[in-house]
Amino acid sequence: MKVELMHGAGGEIMNELVTILTRISHSNAGGIGLEALDDGAVVPINGANVVFTTDSHVVRPIFFPGGDIGRIAISGTVNDLAVMGARPIALSCGMVIEEGFEVSDLERIVASMDAALGEAGAALVTGDTKVVEQGSLDGIVINTAGIGVATRVVRDAGLEVGDRVIVSGTLGDHGLAILAHREGFDLGGQIRSDVAPVWPLVERALAAGTVHAMKDPTRGGFAAAINEMAVKSGVRITIDEEALPVRPSVVSAAGLLGIDPLQVANEGKVVMGVPPDESDKVLEAIRSHPLGADAAIIGRVENGSRVVMDTKAGGRRFIEPPMGDPVPRVC
Ligand code: MG
Repeated sequence: MKVELMHGAGGEIMNELVTILTRISHSNAGGIGLEALDDGAVVPINGANVVFTTDSHVVRPIFFPGGDIGRIAISGTVNDLAVMGARPIALSCGMVIEEGFEVSDLERIVASMDAALGEAGAALVTGDTKVVEQGSLDGIVINTAGIGVATRVVRDAGLEVGDRVIVSGTLGDHGLAILAHREGFDLGGQIRSDVAPVWPLVERALAAGTVHAMKDPTRGGFAAAINEMAVKSGVRITIDEEALPVRPSVVSAAGLLGIDPLQVANEGKVVMGVPPDESDKVLEAIRSHPLGADAAIIGRVENGSRVVMDTKAGGRRFIEPPMGDPVPRVC
């Protein structure tokens, strides 16, 4: 077997590779380890829940409407900490750069990383740089790792029957922005990536009420994230299509390209499970942040399994976990 692009697409096919890559017997430092396959690990240090995560970024192109590889590199790691309930504190940055890369592009990327760190309230405290021969890499790869501290750790497996499901904003923006830009589509209004660090929004939600479960719907989109949450939590989730926030421009671009907007990556969104009696105040707190203006309660958690959607047309259908994100190298 050889590694294929779909092995990195965040869907069912990627699990084949993850099974091999997680054959590590030394995989838990006393908290939540590799076996949980959550957005980050928890390492208890002196009584604190230290959350630790890492991500490599290979998005193509490196500059796109609404963001760039530097903004994704910071936001991706900050968001994996945030959805574990952790305040992001310190990040590392490892860059592998191809010989011939424009230094002015590097300056733009670093300035963008700095701006995103400011929005997240985090610091970049250590790094490493390697340069490889022309042709052995497509421009640049950026790896970031991050540590944060959680007062209370939030898992993707924590959904409880009765919970309401909240999304913090419109779905599919990042994946469709990348794809429309690559294809050179002019769709009237330009679709912009939603890439942003979500910690400030998550912080408000955690202060407003109980959050049982959280995940950031990145590769494989909302469809992958919500199915993973349902499987890990051992519950059924029913989604109301009418309530799903999706921009009209994203709906039309997705239709044109034959892509389901629920299966493409978001880089500045959160999916949460919240007890029913607290869902209104948590929603209100999320909406009080500019990143959460389009937040909505979109479904409920029930006994059973799988994710079903009550459609606008009055029918029901399953939301399946995608085989992979239809847009390769999206982050
Ligand atoms: Mg994640």
